[in-house]
Formats: sequence, C-alpha cells, structure tokens
Amino acid sequence: MNKLNKIALVTGASRGLGKNMAINLAKKGIDVLFTYQSKEEDAIETAKEIEKYGTRTAFLQLDIQNTSSFKQFFERLETCLRDKFQTNHIDFLINNAGTGTYATFQGTTEDQFDSMFNIHIKGVYFLSQSAIEIMNNEGAIINISSGLTRFCTEGYAAYAAAKGAVEILTKYQAAELGFRGIRSNVVAPGPIETDFGGGIVRDNKDLNQIIASQTALGRVGLPSDIGSVVTFLCTDEAKWINAQRIEVSGGYYL
Ligand code: NAP
Repeated sequence: MNKLNKIALVTGASRGLGKNMAINLAKKGIDVLFTYQSKEEDAIETAKEIEKYGTRTAFLQLDIQNTSSFKQFFERLETCLRDKFQTNHIDFLINNAGTGTYATFQGTTEDQFDSMFNIHIKGVYFLSQSAIEIMNNEGAIINISSGLTRFCTEGYAAYAAAKGAVEILTKYQAAELGFRGIRSNVVAPGPIETDFGGGIVRDNKDLNQIIASQTALGRVGLPSDIGSVVTFLCTDEAKWINAQRIEVSGGYYL
C-alpha cells in the first residue's frame, strides 16, 4: 500500500453523490475515510467498491445535525486514522452529507427550518472547524451547495437559504485558511438522479423530462457528473482555484 496517499474525509458517502465522489477519489489514488448516517449496509458496499482500486478506506457513523457528538466523532476518527491509515492527519474535507425538505416559504415550520440549517450550515461549520485541526497544510475543503442558490424552485426556501450560507462560509474559510495553503471551494450540483428528495428527479419520469428540457445539455445530471469535479479540486491541477462556486448542472435554467 502506498504510504504517501493523501486522505479525504467525505461525509455522506454511503449513497448518491458522496458515494461517487469517494469512488472517484479512490480511482485517483486518494485514500477515503467516509461517513454514513443510518445505512451501514450501503456504507459496506461503498467500501468494497473503493477497495477495488487498491486504496485504503474506512467508514464511521455521523449525524451531521448532532454537533454535540463531534468531540466523540473526532476521537473515533483519530483512532481510525492511526489504526488504518498510520497517520493522524487528513488532506481533504468534502462536506456532502445531507437531505432536503420540501416546503414553501409560507409553509415552512420551525422544525423544518432548524433541520435544514443544522444539517447544511451549523454541522458543516463546526465539523470543518474540528477537521482543520487535523488537516495537513496545502489541503482543501469542498462544500457541496446546490444550483438552488442561483435559481428558485418553489418549495426549497429553507434548504436553499442554508446552502446560500455555506457558500458565504466557503469564502471566509478561504480567506482565513489561505495562510496554511488550504483552499475552500463550493461545488453546486443541478438536479441529479439520486435518492435525494425521495428520488423524485430520478423516478418521476415527467419531472425528469422537464428538467432535461430546461438543461442546455439536454439531460438530467448523474452522480458521476459531480464526483469527477470534486476529485479534480483535490488534485494539484486545481491548486490555484480558491473561494469559487463551481456550478455543475449541464447549464440548467439559463
Ligand atoms: P442522497 O442520495 O440522499 O445521500 C445522502 C447521503 O447523506 C447519504 O450518505 C446519507 O447517509 C447522508 N446523510 C443524510 N442525512 C444525514 C445526516 N443528518 N447526517 C449525516 N449524514 C447524512 O443525497 P445526494 O443527492 O447524494 O445529496 C448529497 C448532497 O448533494 C447533499 O448535500 C445535497 O443537498 C446535495 N445536492 C443534491 C442534489 C441532487 O439533485 N441530488 C442537487 C444539489 C445538491 P445514509 O445513507 O446513512 O442515510
């Protein structure tokens, strides 16, 4: 095993976009430590696929909403890094984990609002704060936002507002961590065929067609459209990309 492999921590890689990111990173020779929330069986499958590429991997349970669990999470993470990766540092943090909620602005409850802000900004904020402590200089953070911060689709006010906050956070991370050579960027996917939102973009054929017709490249996004871009941002070729929002939507809603 290559001892010089860099290590990425990817949140929410048991399924969907995170899984594709984790596999793509592994293909590029980056070791992957990833998290799942409830679907351990899916995490086992992700790990099996990663191992096909000869890179090291491990996974841990994490609920990104539960910031009071982060101290214990990082204790488990550090044990895992030491035992499985023979290091106590990571190089990349990909803040991907999360779900949406469907509610109009007028119809959003306080619980729905809190859930979106806890998952997409508070959890990301404090997880990143701790991760920075163990990140090597010249590392990178990639925060997953959404096309919904550029265009509006009714029913996503709280979700999109929280994603907007993570885009601002990204700039501050870049500004305050640049002295260590750490970059921070946003990848903002358009609609992608995953389990997100109950799998509606993938499984509702009418909606899928409408989205395809509103996309310059004429189809709906796939997880592999996103994983490759995240992986690129973890390479040396992307070393001068910092504090940017990169939308990866095939030209949706132009
Ligand atoms: P997905 O297929 O539903 O997968 C969600 C992943 O996040 C799973 O690994 C899940 O773990 C984990 N997760 C969910 N809630 C969590 C929590 N509270 N704490 C920790 N982990 C949690 O969704 P996806 O489409 O891959 O979405 C990934 C990211 O992309 C999200 O941030 C989402 O907002 C963003 N995004 C998605 C789309 C899209 O159209 N799909 C578009 C723009 C942005 P378990 O498997 O254990 O449940």
